[in-house]
Amino acid sequence: ILSNYVKTSVKESDMSLRTSKIQLKIPSGCDGAVLLKNLYLSIDPFILALMKNQELDLPSFTLDSRSCLMNMSKVLDSSHPNFKTDELVWGFTGWEEYSLIKDPDQLFKVQDKDLPLSYYIGILELVVCDSAEVMRCTNLRLKINVFRVIILGMPGMTAYVGFFKFCSPKKGETVYVSAASGAVGQLVGQFAKIAGCYVVGSAGSKEKSAFALMKVDLLKNKFGFDEAFNYKEEQDYNAALKRYFPDGIDIYFDNVGGKMLEAVLNNMRLNGRVALCGMISQYNSLEQPEGIHNLINALVKRVRMEGFFTSEHYHLYPNFLEMVVPLIKEEKITYVKDIAEGIESAPGALFGLYSGRNVWKLLVVVARE
Ligand code: NDP
Repeated sequence: ILSNYVKTSVKESDMSLRTSKIQLKIPSGCDGAVLLKNLYLSIDPFILALMKNQELDLPSFTLDSRSCLMNMSKVLDSSHPNFKTDELVWGFTGWEEYSLIKDPDQLFKVQDKDLPLSYYIGILELVVCDSAEVMRCTNLRLKINVFRVIILGMPGMTAYVGFFKFCSPKKGETVYVSAASGAVGQLVGQFAKIAGCYVVGSAGSKEKSAFALMKVDLLKNKFGFDEAFNYKEEQDYNAALKRYFPDGIDIYFDNVGGKMLEAVLNNMRLNGRVALCGMISQYNSLEQPEGIHNLINALVKRVRMEGFFTSEHYHLYPNFLEMVVPLIKEEKITYVKDIAEGIESAPGALFGLYSGRNVWKLLVVVARE
């Protein structure tokens, strides 16, 4: 439950837990509804915008009522002809243990049981739906704002679209990825290696991650980045980038914006590309971000900078599937997730995301199947 709208930074106390008794069957008068047991909640950076009550093309959280986000769930009871008890679904439901969904047409059914369930939130999401299901939901997207949120929180597709469409990589080019250990960043790094590029990532935390490796070590040892550095240990981003890219950067995949973007522009090569994916360093602040003073570098180097929303490139979804599914099955792409246990851990997990505690896709396990 959202206790108060967030002004600057998220605190754990911005959310609270409420317990109420429910019957584990569909109440009378709810024909066409499904009752879900929620298994996994997805924690994504855009949630902060929903907690700030900003005017957005997204359904904001409402004070004192349950918060709705992407979940993976199991059908406990159904009065809808298309859904049966024990089927697995994912979609926009509540941050709660059980959800009564009166309009289940917006839920996706899980088709492929070969893959771990948690994969549905994060890298794959739609992969596991058959093509008819994808088409049904694609059409829905045009009508339901809620669906736009689902697509926005889709790291695998974001990395694919941002890197291959907006960065136009060529073999041998140099690639820099910020927030590289995050859900999007680490996949961009792996795509860059597959494309034959030299790739460097930055990440923040010195702390040991759940994998007993520091985040920067994880980038090199687990995800195959050529080099990685801790941006929090660097006094001068410009100098750090010169160290890793003595001949300049061809491609920058920007997840953070702000001062890092400014430093990158000093180091771009002729005809470089910058994909403006996210600006997480600026989301948590009320102050105007420090301006980009050196756009002349982009002009002189003829750099192409372009922002994108994954939701607008959904037509590339079949290409994404064609490339990514075999890579996953052949274990050429490593998928790692951070897991917090129990619904009560959700506020802390969200806070952790903005303080750089997570590595890869952040999930809350509400219940095991
Ligand atoms: P994650 O939640 O997986 O990771 C976010 C990471 O960002 C954190 O782990 C933290 O790691 C880093 N971070 C947090 N605060 C800062 C800061 N002040 N400065 C620098 N780094 C920070 O994020 P995603 O991978 O899901 O998303 C990455 C970006 O992509 C976000 O900006 C998001 O909004 C954007 N996005 C854009 C989409 C689009 O359609 N354009 C769609 C989906 C996401 P660290 O330890 O390195 O600091």
